[in-house]
Amino acid sequence: MHLKNENEVGLVMKTPSFRVCVNCGSIRVYPYMGFMVGQRYQCQDCDEIMVIPLEFDNNEDYQAFLDDMGFKPNE
Ligand SMILES: [Zn+2]
Repeated sequence: MHLKNENEVGLVMKTPSFRVCVNCGSIRVYPYMGFMVGQRYQCQDCDEIMVIPLEFDNNEDYQAFLDDMGFKPNE
């Protein structure tokens, strides 16, 4: 008798992802609560307000993204 336990894979908790600004690539993106506009996110570096920031699970993916986009955070 073979039971497939594929669901278990989806239940594994990953490390928290971090949010990245779609405009400048900064990781200093925080929830921004506006009246009647729903939840959004604002970048502390370029003030860009976005509905859905990019999310990465680990620094490797993030660095690869920076390379792809040509972003070069200076800090
Ligand atoms: Zn930004």
